[in-house]
Amino acid sequence: MIVAITGATGFIGSRLVQKLLADRHQVRILTRSISKAQSVFPEHRYPNLEVAEEANWVELIHGATGVVNLAGLPISRRWTPEVKAEIKKSRVGVTAKVVEAINAAPMELKPKVLVSSTAVGYYGTSETSAFDETSPSGKDYLAEVCREWEAAAQGLDDSTRLVLLRSGIVLDKDGGALAQMVPTFSISAGGPLGSGKQWISWVHRDDLVSLIMESLSNPAYEGVINGTAPNPVRVNEMCDRLGAVLGRPSWLPVPEFALRVLLGEGASVVLEGQRVLPKKAQELGFTYKYRFISDALKASFPA
Ligand code: NDP
Repeated sequence: MIVAITGATGFIGSRLVQKLLADRHQVRILTRSISKAQSVFPEHRYPNLEVAEEANWVELIHGATGVVNLAGLPISRRWTPEVKAEIKKSRVGVTAKVVEAINAAPMELKPKVLVSSTAVGYYGTSETSAFDETSPSGKDYLAEVCREWEAAAQGLDDSTRLVLLRSGIVLDKDGGALAQMVPTFSISAGGPLGSGKQWISWVHRDDLVSLIMESLSNPAYEGVINGTAPNPVRVNEMCDRLGAVLGRPSWLPVPEFALRVLLGEGASVVLEGQRVLPKKAQELGFTYKYRFISDALKASFPA
């Protein structure tokens, strides 16, 4: 396959690139900055990568077998009005651009599939409900972002298959949520965030990359698919397990007001959650490497 990827320089994208190259596929990186892409993928180690900045994305999208859309400004930061606008624009705008390029491709150069990222934030938050792909969208800001993000992807012509991967919190060493949590455990202060009762619908990065690989190659993968592990946990449990894996107690809860002061409205990302089940992936027979959080954490931090 030839696979063109936005957000390829990020936490998920960089692992996807490595997996595609290891499986002898061709990769085309769609980035905002060639120098950044070259620092993530140095030319001497990745001689066969094609890289393009935004003005030239169309050329690399045309003729690709599949496109994976992973671009987006990280959301775990203080949400000023400008940041909120950029959170949305970086997802909806890039997705619309990718869709426009695919729709404009002549039939012989048209990608067969677009795998476009969205997030479990689509469902809103709840401490009591469980959500699957058929559940309605929530009412908060992240749900609104996800709806618009997905609507932009749904502008795709019928001639290209669309997979909307509603991803949970992606876990692995060297990045994502764990990279933000682990430093507090290292000074033995890593306790639950807020009440600790909020749900985390997590997925190990290797499993999410496998879901993307399946979505690229298997025509049965179509429409919305939750990219989460089958056993979500509450934050209390996640912190207990992480403390155990790191050999550090999880004893000092981080109070809600401190997170609100630090992150403003953006604190909702860590203080509120949702229990999302991967009904579709399981119906499709997807095999998880990491079904339980303790296994995912142990793999991320081997003893
Ligand atoms: P990263 O933040 O690691 O990488 C995202 C990539 O998006 C960057 O490498 C960058 O690529 C591009 N990007 C960053 N800011 C902007 C911007 N302002 N405008 C356009 N492009 C931008 O993200 P992840 O790999 O963690 O996540 C990938 C996607 O999956 C994101 O859309 C994210 O929202 C979604 N997701 C991630 C989850 C997680 O837990 N990690 C959970 C749920 C969804 P470049 O600089 O090369 O252009």
